[in-house]
Amino acid sequence: MYQDLIVVTGAGGFIGGHLVADLLRQGHTHLRAVDCKPLSQWYQRFPEVESRRLDLSLREACYEALDGAHTVYNLAADMGGMGFIENNKALCMLSVTINTHALLAARDLGIEQYFFASSACVYAADRQTSADVIPLRECDAYPALPEDGYGWEKLFSERMCRHFREDFGLYTRVARYHNVYGPHGTYQGGREKAPAAICRKVIEAKCSGRHEIEIWGDGHQTRSFMYIDDCIKGTQDILHSDILEPINLGSAQLVSINQLVDIVEDIAGVKLRRNYNLAAPKGVRGRNSDNTQMLAELGWEPNIRLEDGLEKTYRWIYDQMVGALQVPTLAA
Ligand code: NAD
Repeated sequence: MYQDLIVVTGAGGFIGGHLVADLLRQGHTHLRAVDCKPLSQWYQRFPEVESRRLDLSLREACYEALDGAHTVYNLAADMGGMGFIENNKALCMLSVTINTHALLAARDLGIEQYFFASSACVYAADRQTSADVIPLRECDAYPALPEDGYGWEKLFSERMCRHFREDFGLYTRVARYHNVYGPHGTYQGGREKAPAAICRKVIEAKCSGRHEIEIWGDGHQTRSFMYIDDCIKGTQDILHSDILEPINLGSAQLVSINQLVDIVEDIAGVKLRRNYNLAAPKGVRGRNSDNTQMLAELGWEPNIRLEDGLEKTYRWIYDQMVGALQVPTLAA
């Protein structure tokens, strides 16, 4: 049976790889996966999917990538955890070329549905100064004071999606992801985010016998973390919804970084001495997702418990590290 072509950009990355896997599970056969990384470096690859290496910051590459598509999930971005985005603001802002060219291609090629992955980093910093944070509502992005670099790019690209919808009639949907984690993502090298970084550090400490861990900041900063399966469901629900403006897609289970470490220690069965690095990048003081709109519009919110998602993430990172002989084999 003929199926409309779905294109996933950033498909060699963490979320894009899981989205392609889920679309395949649902029976979609007409899929194109695009990323600028060499295919050997993609987290997940599927022989039945057309996989293309293209640099989508280039206009021609976007037209090539989107050619013949019905639906586009645009997840490609130069990004990482706080350590990366605080030190690479220009690189983060350059993702605007991806979104600009992808939107132009979508308009000119008559794409039916276009999804853009925005971020909680669009929210105004002055609403995130306390660990006991009031969950962020969609309207809290304005007056604008987003995370410098990465957040400004996301806010601008959100805005472009809105104006391409209003001025050119392009069907655009935008989700603001809040800290997504899970297996098949970055856990080392400088782009990793807190859950994966903490899993890796706990595994290193456990396996080396040096029972200590470095924590960025004082450990009291708070966040919510969404397991990848919730992100993949929410992404598709939002694309197919009538929600025109950017909407939160995040867990509302608020934890401090210390609590995150507690959970990973429990999974690993160790207790570590904590060394707090107050000079390290730490981002805003507190951030949580207000899911009122999501519940009202979609009757659902991310609900996979952090304890359950972290267990799977820890096991996967452990297997990668032991498999790559980065740590000696010990009981996980
Ligand atoms: P990721 O880094 O694992 O994946 C992004 C992919 O985009 C990478 O594989 C990268 O090679 C690719 N890419 C970068 N520049 C490209 C280019 N010029 N052409 C083609 N491909 C390019 O990140 P992720 O966690 O999977 O994030 C996916 C999307 O979700 C991104 O837009 C990100 O900003 C957004 N987001 C993620 C989170 C999170 O917690 N992971 C939170 C908020 C928003």
